[in-house]
Amino acid sequence: MTASIGKHSVVEIHYTLKNPEGEVMDSSAGGDPLMYLHGTQGLIPGLEKELDGKKVGDSFQAVIPPELAYGETDPALIHTIDKAMFRGVDKIEPGMVFTAQGEQGQQHIRVQSVDGDQVTIDGNHEMAGKTLHFDVEVLSVRDATAEEIDHGHVHAHGDHHDH
Ligand code: ZN
Repeated sequence: MTASIGKHSVVEIHYTLKNPEGEVMDSSAGGDPLMYLHGTQGLIPGLEKELDGKKVGDSFQAVIPPELAYGETDPALIHTIDKAMFRGVDKIEPGMVFTAQGEQGQQHIRVQSVDGDQVTIDGNHEMAGKTLHFDVEVLSVRDATAEEIDHGHVHAHGDHHDH
């Protein structure tokens, strides 16, 4: 049993994610901690890198640049389309999010701006192009079971499931 985080550790963390403006974007505080299998790209690469070698009880802050988080904003995912494409939606406003079936499964499309009948939509991840600020606390670290390594994910609370 190793006490520091390495490949195939099962790790539980509490985290708070803030954008560069300091607004909280996401947090596990007050809820269940996040549990993941280290070294299997379960987290954004920059955060896994920061967690590497950390121990139970460690608390730290991490600043993750876009290239180690959700990537840079891809201009190819920003399009201007006709309002008529949004059938059945009465009012299109900036900030609205729609779900579309894309080449890589479900994709979230955000309305960036509306100019008359022209709607500019952005299919980038909400956090693309952003530097992320994390507050992290390591709650538990254990070695993954052979089965978890085989499946590539954590079996929480000893549950077994078929797949
Ligand atoms: Zn499984």
